[in-house]
Amino acid sequence: MAVRQIRVLGDELLRKSCKPIKEVTPRIRQLIDDMFETMYEANGVGLAGPQVGILKQVVVIDVDDGNQYVLINPEILETVGSKTDYEGCLSIPGKTGKVTRPVHVKVRAFDENMEPYELEGDELLARAICHECDHLHGGLFVDLVEGELEEVETAEDEDE
Ligand code: ZN
Repeated sequence: MAVRQIRVLGDELLRKSCKPIKEVTPRIRQLIDDMFETMYEANGVGLAGPQVGILKQVVVIDVDDGNQYVLINPEILETVGSKTDYEGCLSIPGKTGKVTRPVHVKVRAFDENMEPYELEGDELLARAICHECDHLHGGLFVDLVEGELEEVETAEDEDE
């Protein structure tokens, strides 16, 4: 495993759309391992392929609910409700802003064995799923932010 460099705002790769993954090759498996390691090192709760320079539809999420979610080719099927809360991004270090997201999300994806599954998430997990899926289509939370971007006040804020 290796920590990869995280691309930051201004890097044009973050604005590109990602290709679906057809099969989980050893390289993809390595990528997934590295993405988890990179995310944990940066104290994030989610990371998407383009953030480490890979334009493939792969996302890792760990919101500290005891699961390590791998979402390959994710597709959001349903959203319920809306909630406005502060959000951050490992590609926009030191900044946070208010974004309205669904409170409940149902997503279909493939796991690290290319098995299809459905995942439902509430609150932070729903927010992370939406945020990371946006990354796969060139979207960043700053596109959705309501009001001003603010400086993060502590080192312990939850970046996604
Ligand atoms: Zn992000």
